[in-house]
Amino acid sequence: MNKTELPPLLHMMRRLIAEPSVSSVSAEWDQSNVRVIDLLQDWLHNLGFQTEKLAVPNYPGKFNLIATAGSGPEGLVLAGHTDTVPFDSSRWSTDPFELTERDNRLYGLGSTDMKGFFALVLEAIRDLDTGKLRQPLVILATADEESSMSGARALADAQKQLGRHALIGEPTGLKPIRLHKGIAMECIRITGRSGHSSNPSLGNNALDGMSLVLAEILQWRNELATRFSNPLFEVATPTVNLGHIHGGDNPNRICGQCELHIDIRPLPGMDLDELRRELDRRLQRTLHSTGLKLECHSLFGGVPAFETPASAAIVQAAEVLTGHSAEAVAFGTEGPFLQQLGMDTIIMGPGSIDQAHQPDEFMAMEQIEPGITLIKQLIHRFCMT
Ligand SMILES: [Zn+2]
Repeated sequence: MNKTELPPLLHMMRRLIAEPSVSSVSAEWDQSNVRVIDLLQDWLHNLGFQTEKLAVPNYPGKFNLIATAGSGPEGLVLAGHTDTVPFDSSRWSTDPFELTERDNRLYGLGSTDMKGFFALVLEAIRDLDTGKLRQPLVILATADEESSMSGARALADAQKQLGRHALIGEPTGLKPIRLHKGIAMECIRITGRSGHSSNPSLGNNALDGMSLVLAEILQWRNELATRFSNPLFEVATPTVNLGHIHGGDNPNRICGQCELHIDIRPLPGMDLDELRRELDRRLQRTLHSTGLKLECHSLFGGVPAFETPASAAIVQAAEVLTGHSAEAVAFGTEGPFLQQLGMDTIIMGPGSIDQAHQPDEFMAMEQIEPGITLIKQLIHRFCMT
C-alpha cells in the first residue's frame, strides 16, 4: 500500500465539493451521489480499507459506502452523508462547486455539511497502521440525508452490523450531541361535497370540517406539551406546527376539499407511529358525525427522536476529549437509524450548523486541526487500546 496515493487535505476537499450530489424530494434537483462515493472508495481502498459500495434499494443512482479496516465486534464507525442540499448560485459570491479560500474560511457547497468531514477523516487516518487496529474502524458514507434519509434507512432495514460506537460528523463546532427531537410531516385531507353557497344543504363543507380539525390539533398540542417535557432542549416540549393549508376555490361555492400539512417534533421517548395513530384517532372522532371523509398520510418517512445515554462510552470519551458535556440540538440526523443497528451514537463534527444550508457555506480553517486531532484521539481510544 502506498500512502502517498492519498492527495493533500485541501485537494481532497476540493475534489469532493467539485462533484455535485444534491439530494432533494423535487425530481428536478435530485442527483446521484455516485461520484462522491467513488472518490471516497478510491482513497479508502488506497489506505488499505475493504470497501463495499451498496446501491440503495428503490433509489436509482444512490449509494452508501462502507469501508472497514480491522475486525472484531466493538468497532468505531465514523459516519457522514455525501449529499448536499439544493443551492441558489445567484446568492453565492463564488462558485458553490469550487473550493475557495478567503479570510481563513473554506467556501463551497458541502464544505461544512458535510463533505469537509470526510476530508478530515481521511487526513486523520493517512498514517494509520491498519495492522495495529485491535477493533475495527469503519468509515460510513451515506446517501440522501438531506431528503429522504434513504441511505441510512436502507442500512437499518438490512440490519447491517457495522460496529459498537458511532460518530456522525455533522457540524456541531466539535461539541458532542447526544439528543435530538424527531420530525414527522403529516398531510390531513378532508373531502366533502361542493355546491352553490346559497344553500348549505347542497353540499358538505370541507372547510367547516377543517375548522374542527384545527381546533382539535391545537388542543392535542397543548396536551402533548403538558404530558412531555425535557429541559435539555431549548424548546423543552414537543412542537406541532400548522404549516400549510389549502382548500376551496370561490367564496360562493361550498368548499369540497381542504388539505392541511403539519410538522410534529417529538421528544426522545415519543414514538412517531404512535403519535400518528393518536392524531388519526382524534381527528376521526372529531369528524365522526359530519359525513366528511378524512385521510391522513405522512409526507415522508419521518426521523425518530434520538437519545444516547450519557453513560455511553462514546459520550464519555467525547466529553473528556472536548471538555464539553453532551447536549441536545434542534435538527434531525441519521443518528436514530445508526442506533437501530445497535451502536451508541453521537453527533460531533467540524464547522457550524449556522453555515449549513446557506449561500456562501464555509468551514472555518480553525476547525480543521482540532477536528483531525479529535478524530485521531477517538480512533486511538476505541480501536487501538
Ligand atoms: Zn448534514
